[in-house]
Parts: sequence; C-alpha cells; structure tokens
Amino acid sequence: MTAAIIDGKAIAADIRTGLKEEITALSDKGVTPGLAVVLVGDDQASHTYVRNKEKACEQVGIHSEVYRYPADLTEEELLKKIEELNQAEHIHGILVQLPLPAHLSEEKVIDAIVPEKDVDGFHPVNVGKMVIGKEAFYSCTPYGIIKMLEHEDISLEGKHVVVVGRSNIVGKPAALLSLQAHATVTVCHSRTENLSDYTKQADVVIAAVGRAKFLKKEDFKPGAVIVDVGMNRDENGKLCGDVDFESAKETASAITPVPGGVGPMTITMLLYNTVQSAKQKIR
Ligand code: NDP
Repeated sequence: MTAAIIDGKAIAADIRTGLKEEITALSDKGVTPGLAVVLVGDDQASHTYVRNKEKACEQVGIHSEVYRYPADLTEEELLKKIEELNQAEHIHGILVQLPLPAHLSEEKVIDAIVPEKDVDGFHPVNVGKMVIGKEAFYSCTPYGIIKMLEHEDISLEGKHVVVVGRSNIVGKPAALLSLQAHATVTVCHSRTENLSDYTKQADVVIAAVGRAKFLKKEDFKPGAVIVDVGMNRDENGKLCGDVDFESAKETASAITPVPGGVGPMTITMLLYNTVQSAKQKIR
C-alpha cells in the first residue's frame, strides 16, 4: 500500500480563501479583524514565527500589530501592555509568542489575556471549555489537525486514536479534540512502556514527540492514518517529523509530510480563531 499524502499546504490555502471572504463580509459591516502579537527577547525562531504570522495576516486581510520588546522587559510592563490590548476595541486576538525569557511567568501572562481574545487557546478558561466540549478558542495545532482530517473526509468516530505526546499545547488538546470527535483515545508519553504495542493498535496516530523519525513503519498497523506534528532536524540538518516518512508511507493509508503537513495548518487556525473572535462583535 502507498499512502495518500495529506497536503496541509493546499488545505490551509483552501481555508484561507474562505477566511478572506469572511473578512470582506465583516469589513462591509465595519469590522476588520485585528490581531496583536507580543514578542519579548531575541530568540531567532520566535522572530521568524512572528514574521510568518504577520505575513499570513496581511495575506488574508487581518490587521496585525506586533510589539517587539527587549529581553529585559519587566513583567509589570508586559502585563500593562496586555491590559491595554485587552481594552483595545480594534484588537480581537492577542498572542504572546512563547517561550518568554525566564524572568517572565508564562502562566501569569497567559492568565492576563482576556479569554475572549485568547486566540492561541492557552487560557485556562478556553482549555476548560474544550474539556467539557463547549465552544471556545482551541489550541491552533491540534485544532488544525482536526480540521485537516475533516477536510480529507477522515472521520474519527469510533476510531482508535493514539496520541504520542502529552504537552499542553499539542498532545493533550489533540487527545481531547479527538475524544470530542467520538474517537476512542489513548495518550502515550515518555513513561509509556512498550509504546509500539499501543501505536500498532491505532487507526490514527498523532505523533507529537519532538524526536526525529522516532516512529517507523513497524510501529504502525497497515492502513493507519498518520499525523506527524514533529518539527525536527535530521542527521543532515534537514527538517523532518517524528515519523520516518519514507518507510511509514509504505504501510499507512494516509500520512502528513513534514514540511507541508500540520505546519501550515497552525497559523491558519490562528487566523481562523481571530476571525471567529471578530465575528462575535457583530452577533
Ligand atoms: P514537548 O516537548 O512539550 O512534548 C513532547 C511530548 O513527547 C511529551 O509529552 C513527552 O513525554 C513525549 N515524549 C518525549 N520523548 C518520548 C518518548 N521517547 N516516548 C514517548 N513519548 C515521548 O513538545 P510539543 O508538544 O510542544 O511539540 C512536539 C513536536 O511538535 C515538536 O517537534 C515541535 O517542534 C512540534 N510542533 C509543531 C508544530 C507545528 O505547527 N507543526 C506546533 C507545535 C509543536 P513527557 O510528557 O513524559 O515528557
């Protein structure tokens, strides 16, 4: 069997086309979706992510404002800026790029964003709503996975989904959103014994481990759907996922590549959440 390659780039482009139309309709009603991004310090990867977010906003017609601060910004100053953005009428989404420098508490900062503008879906109120299956802002990467599978007509209902990884931003929400989509869910992590025994039973594997080519062909059931969240560098410095794509595609029914799979969906869902937030303004 050779797997269907799930084209995240094309799916993301499709969703963005739909968003552009929604944004035009919103503008006609006098609302332009606005996203504020706060970046502290000089982590190069963070600067690249933020530039990509800015570009993506521009491409679909979302107004974006980026606040770049030096690494020695005080917590008080940062919280003050967040409060100002909480109050700003024209801002519908606030995102603080993580990681923050060590002297700033990520927890405090996330808690300071009003849940109605927490388009990253990290605020405990949004996480709690997701747990009980209520409408909320869901974490962009796992939400992107769900949207991607929906787009490909891959239903999770009654399927056994095995999530490898239990981080708050990917693994746990991926498990909860799969459960909400009526899957039977198993969550594995670094203390799981005989990991392969679980992944081999899965109809769908969501790999969010952060280890290059960690799962291989023999770890999957023939015909499984494989979603690879990982973004790692292989021994030659080339971008690769948590799954050994070349061997796994021989056994999977469908698989996401790295790059070009889950990655493009993440920023798209940030745009999506920002547009949903702006829509609340005219309800
Ligand atoms: P974390 O490091 O926060 O979490 C990794 C998880 O993998 C942990 O739960 C850890 O278990 C588990 N793990 C580590 N080693 C093993 C092992 N040997 N066996 C089983 N489980 C293991 O990473 P993230 O969740 O933030 O990200 C995961 C990957 O996804 C990374 O490569 C990251 O770059 C990528 N990513 C990609 C995004 C995208 O847009 N495509 C967005 C976000 C992340 P434990 O909890 O026990 O430590």
